[in-house]
Amino acid sequence: MKKEFVPDYFGSMVFDDRIMRSMLSDKVYTSLKRTIDEGERLDSSVADAVAEAMKQWALERGATHFTHWFQPLTGVTAEKHDSFITPSPDGAVIMDFSGKELIQGEPDASSFPSGGLRATFEARGYTAWDPTSYAFIKDHTLCIPTAFCSYSGEALDKKTPLLRSMEALNKQALRILKLFGKTEVHNVKTSVGPEQEYFLIDRKMFEQRPDLIYTGRTLFGAKPPKGQELDDHYFGVIKPRVTAYMEDLNKELWKLGILAKTEHNEVAPAQHELAPIYSTTNIATDHNQLMMEIMQKVADRHGLVCLLHEKPFAGVNGSGKHNNWSISTDTGVNLLSPGDTPYENAQFLLFLVAVIQAVDDYQDLLRLSVATAGNDHRLGANEAPPAIISVFLGDELTAVLDAIKNGTEYEGAERTQIKLGVHVLPRLPKDTTDRNRTSPFAFTGNKFEFRSVGSSNSIACANIMLNAAVAESLKQYADELEKADDFETALNELIRRTIKAHERILFNGNGYSDEWVKEATEKRGLSNLKTTPDAMVHLLDKKNMDMLMAHKVFNEAELNSRCEIMLENYCKTVNIEGVTMVEMAKKDILPAIEEYLLEVAKTTNLKKQAVPGLACAYETGIIEKLSKLSDSICESANKLDDALSTLKEKENIVSTSEAIRDDIIPKMEKLRGFADEAEGLTAEKYWPFPSYGKLLFSVK
Ligand code: ADP
Ligand code: MG
Repeated sequence: MKKEFVPDYFGSMVFDDRIMRSMLSDKVYTSLKRTIDEGERLDSSVADAVAEAMKQWALERGATHFTHWFQPLTGVTAEKHDSFITPSPDGAVIMDFSGKELIQGEPDASSFPSGGLRATFEARGYTAWDPTSYAFIKDHTLCIPTAFCSYSGEALDKKTPLLRSMEALNKQALRILKLFGKTEVHNVKTSVGPEQEYFLIDRKMFEQRPDLIYTGRTLFGAKPPKGQELDDHYFGVIKPRVTAYMEDLNKELWKLGILAKTEHNEVAPAQHELAPIYSTTNIATDHNQLMMEIMQKVADRHGLVCLLHEKPFAGVNGSGKHNNWSISTDTGVNLLSPGDTPYENAQFLLFLVAVIQAVDDYQDLLRLSVATAGNDHRLGANEAPPAIISVFLGDELTAVLDAIKNGTEYEGAERTQIKLGVHVLPRLPKDTTDRNRTSPFAFTGNKFEFRSVGSSNSIACANIMLNAAVAESLKQYADELEKADDFETALNELIRRTIKAHERILFNGNGYSDEWVKEATEKRGLSNLKTTPDAMVHLLDKKNMDMLMAHKVFNEAELNSRCEIMLENYCKTVNIEGVTMVEMAKKDILPAIEEYLLEVAKTTNLKKQAVPGLACAYETGIIEKLSKLSDSICESANKLDDALSTLKEKENIVSTSEAIRDDIIPKMEKLRGFADEAEGLTAEKYWPFPSYGKLLFSVK
């Protein structure tokens, strides 16, 4: 068989720069590039020419349809396919695609969540091409990445505010760079490399579990004899079926121009990670959405299911998505990388403290940007990372900041008193940025890693808040420094003052420990928003709304709608879980226990007949324990059922979400406790669902 060479097919399904350059006239190409790089408006003749080339290219690759591909607030992507065919008078068809169809589409928006933004009678929304993200072909369809808005201009998607937040950061960062004399910089962008964790399980097992089918996680399941305690899975040898999956997956992703790079086993059994090489934030976001979709599709081909839920299994590690984030210029400078000259270092420190301040000032926004019912199982529980947001800098950089703050000597390799703008910063050996896996927000040499993002979350929300919050710090600095008579003195003073004002957010210790929770909340006044209902309402705090509106990332209506939609999503998710539990308990678990009890009872009788006077202590014990447990299961399923039906009576979404947090979830946990205990006592062949052991260890 002919071996395929990766560079030959990498990006073969993407209408990328190589294709544009070869298919478009110089004039059209230059004009499109200006739109892509500088956001210039595209004129309609250019759009027509691009559309024609795109169509030609797509037809040659077997596409028959096109779609505006967008990211509504459901969290998954949406697409409505139109075929290229247009009838011609002689009864034949031609394949047609105009500039107008490329630029704008009109999906029926009425069924997408809008949080009251769009009254249903005015259900029209439109999609608008995002030329900064390449079009691609998937399933014989030309997919055009688009933003999704209402006709009055409100964003109904995740891409629009993300692009706005990138623009906000660009604007403020350029002001700062100008003060440092960097007039050659025209554009500042953030980049993201999201590391994606996931579980792979056998499809046959998956199909036997209503909880996995309906909710993506197990709602019942007794602990297996072996979990992750041996730490033998992390970076362990990858099993053949998983290897075959990963190879196939890489190939599909590479065809789509997705830079899938690293793959390894994660901490929990059946858990893996896939990391791409980082790219510009909105492209990384598109690619991550696409990647999640392809991961699931390819799994299906291998008789596997890819679980993206944050907590598919109780008692073993959940899955997250580490959002590696940096800021860089169009001249190729990473602004979060310590430089080689004193001046560059002062600039690095200013951007560094801007991030520190942003995280401190907007802890709540970062926390709520990753708040979902699924992610609450990680952040609110005793698992990485904690719900308290803090920043890890590592000992080296912390010592540098301390020295600056106190005006003392830095006791690094060379003793120096650091005067910004005068001294070169001591070299920060990049690899000593020790790996503190418990920190939600860690500096890792030349980027920050926000680890709280859930594995199924779109990374858009986290990056919107991050970009906006950093834009705000930079704006404050630019306002101050632009007015300063002596830039260097003002800069020194500003950096020192910012370190002092925000050092409470810096923490290098163990984020899991109880002492940290106490210190963070009691001494440092950091917020500890454990659940989605706790966190989400802060989106509407005045300070948060003011900031997000000032940077034109959201308007008031959009914020209100988002809060509503996110809470609604939380409520619906848990509600489905609750209903599924009641069903599983009543229709599967209780009948299974009864069946087993019948068998045990029959055996007891037969044994007693055979040997009169026999105690049958083992059988009696089981009958007694399981009978009590089935009563408890029945009772707690009924209580859960009743509680679920009262949710409808709550007056608004906030009170519904609170009832779920305070009443439904504890009732679900109680029911699960009884059922899991019963599972441990019931013969395996009677238990209606594959056990944790089978789910976690059967893929070879
Ligand atoms: P790990 O954190 O597992 O040690 P790396 O630090 O090598 O792995 O990278 C993790 C992710 O961070 C990858 O997706 C990588 O492309 C991304 N990354 C590396 N450098 C940057 C950067 N400057 N900005 C954003 N992401 C980056
Ligand atoms: Mg990492």
